[in-house]
Amino acid sequence: MPRAGDHHADRRREIIRANLSAVRERVAAAALRAGRSPYDVRIVVVTKDVEVESVRAALELGVLDVGENRVKEGVAKRAALSTDFPAVRWHMIGHLQTNKARKAALEFDLVHSVDGPRVAEALSRAVEEGGRVGPLGVLLQVNVSGEGTKFGVGPGEAEALLREVNRHPGIEVRGLMTIAPLAADAEETRPVFRRLALLARQMRELGLEGVSMDILSMGMSQDYEVAISEGSNLVRIGTAVFGPRGG
Ligand SMILES: *Cc1c(COP(=O)(O)O)cnc(C)c1O
Repeated sequence: MPRAGDHHADRRREIIRANLSAVRERVAAAALRAGRSPYDVRIVVVTKDVEVESVRAALELGVLDVGENRVKEGVAKRAALSTDFPAVRWHMIGHLQTNKARKAALEFDLVHSVDGPRVAEALSRAVEEGGRVGPLGVLLQVNVSGEGTKFGVGPGEAEALLREVNRHPGIEVRGLMTIAPLAADAEETRPVFRRLALLARQMRELGLEGVSMDILSMGMSQDYEVAISEGSNLVRIGTAVFGPRGG
């Protein structure tokens, strides 16, 4: 617990509270503008590089979904917080190396970053070996923009990956994830989100057994309103809640 009279911690909590309520309002407004229910859009609060007491502050404000991009950091925070906040869902949103897959499969509730058959196989094996209640939900990461710096399969390879991943027991493909390029104007990202939504629809129409394809993880601090208007139902927000990382 923070010390009484710890003004820095109090101020930090107050900033998080104000930021989070602004994000919630903007997410709800964007959903309504798109003719959807605000409840249709889940906010995953991204806590990478954020100290545990600030994560705790967000959880005390009712945050139920937390995203981390490194297994070790996510596992440590979960260990520190899950007793007090057992209902929180932990999301693995960063690139996953196969040697970290085992830990990720047991400690996270949804893995957003399946980008190839090997990581899917490693996750599946970990679930099959036991220690996890129920299947692991995964999203396929698609590199829509084709930027060399981004992980993910190209849109044209996504169906093949889906069929491949779907053969593995213990994991369930729940949808798609993408990261849009940095853009001076968020509007520029719209074609990326539109493409991912179309791809998800096409994959849903394949009607593959065990594939729900109901999660569209797209939109970050700078572009989540555009993503929601293109059908996102899961936005991953860090900076808009906690401020700039390392700042
Ligand atoms: C860091 C990160 C986010 C959050 O980015 P912000 O711009 O801080 O909101 C979302 N998704 C992924 C995959 C990330 O690595």
